[in-house]
Amino acid sequence: MLHDVVIVGAGPVGATLALALARDSLDVIALDSRQAGASIRGDRSLALSHAARLVFERLGVWSDLSAVPQAVTPILAIDVSQRGGFGSARLDAAEQGIPALGYVVSYLALQGALDAALGRSGIKVEHGLTVEHVNATPAYACVEGKRDGGDASWGCRLAAVADGGGDFVSGIVRHRHDYGRVALVARVWTREGHGGVAFERFTPEGPMALLPEGDHFGLVWTTSPQEAQTLVASAEAEFLQTLGNRFGRQAGRFERVADRRTFPLVLDFVDRVVADRVVLLGNAAQALHPVAGQGLNLGIRDAWELAQELLVAQRDEFGAASQLAAYSKRRRTDRWAGVAFTHGLLRVFGNDYALLSWPRGLALTLLDALPPLKRAFTHAMLFGVH
Ligand SMILES: Cc1cc2nc3c(=O)[nH]c(=O)nc-3n(C[C@H](O)[C@H](O)[C@H](O)COP(=O)(O)OP(=O)(O)OC[C@H]3O[C@@H](n4cnc5c(N)ncnc54)[C@H](O)[C@@H]3O)c2cc1C
Repeated sequence: MLHDVVIVGAGPVGATLALALARDSLDVIALDSRQAGASIRGDRSLALSHAARLVFERLGVWSDLSAVPQAVTPILAIDVSQRGGFGSARLDAAEQGIPALGYVVSYLALQGALDAALGRSGIKVEHGLTVEHVNATPAYACVEGKRDGGDASWGCRLAAVADGGGDFVSGIVRHRHDYGRVALVARVWTREGHGGVAFERFTPEGPMALLPEGDHFGLVWTTSPQEAQTLVASAEAEFLQTLGNRFGRQAGRFERVADRRTFPLVLDFVDRVVADRVVLLGNAAQALHPVAGQGLNLGIRDAWELAQELLVAQRDEFGAASQLAAYSKRRRTDRWAGVAFTHGLLRVFGNDYALLSWPRGLALTLLDALPPLKRAFTHAMLFGVH
């Protein structure tokens, strides 16, 4: 018997797709290598866009998430600046007439709320199952994996791969750019508190972000692997001193740090997100540098748009070449804009060419001074590019 859809990976993106497809009439199953309620990913602060919140509201996830104390922190303003150059921009929620520019949530809190919603939805989820191959023909796909008891396989009309990597799917060309940098993430406290303001600061050594989260900031500090190692191992006072020197005083005086960890930074994306009976979404389709906090937001839009494509189709059209081509076309502009925007931001802001400091300053000043440009930029950050 063929399932309608087998979703590989019930992380934030796969779980969103599963919940959006939760209908009695559909036969959908999600597979994940982690155990129920656990995560193989370390925690991280995620900046969610307003559009992502709307999706989670419709799926009944947002109320659960926001009921957890300190799990959701609204971003009331974003302050963008560069060290060692003029120009800065401030995007303000009140100026745009919206309650928040976005929300900071912890990866683990979001995964917990999604798991709870999956449990209520009646969707079948198999945990502790690692997928190793997806073999597909124009007529159907076969997803093969391993669990404690041995091998297992599922036939389906469509395999939706949201495992964060997508390496086991053949016939898909991947591009990988290693930035040779890592993201050092940590929780930091300032004397002044965050007041709902997020900071994006471009320094000659790489971009740094502070996201307001609960009673602290989530720090994302791009640096070399060697410096990251030293920073992770350094004493708290020394770390705070270096952070203050590098970041400046915009966000206040740094007083405490906890949970220092590092992530490698790569841009990994595919040209075509579809192949015979297979679609890639979320990080499996594009893993971006976290500089602009776009990765998961893009993945949520992938999941939502795929679900919209499937929900208006007859079940025997699921995974058909025409349907996958329509989905791929629907997502093209937004995906490429996400890749180009993130990579371009790093090219222009994430280097130490003194000559670029002037145009950078001009760009930030213009962004700050021209309301229509600011509105367009904020809209793209909140809702993506269509
Ligand atoms: C430091 C850092 C900061 C970030 N900040 C932001 C931010 O502010 N905003 C933002 O939008 N994004 C941000 N991102 C990106 C965001 O974390 C990812 O885009 C998001 O986690 C992708 O979700 P996903 O569901 O596609 O993949 P994942 O989160 O990787 O989930 C994949 C799931 O698949 C499962 N799985 C893996 N392999 C298999 C297998 N073989 N078989 C079965 N199951 C499998 C895993 O257990 C997991 O549950 C950040 C990333 C980093 C590293």
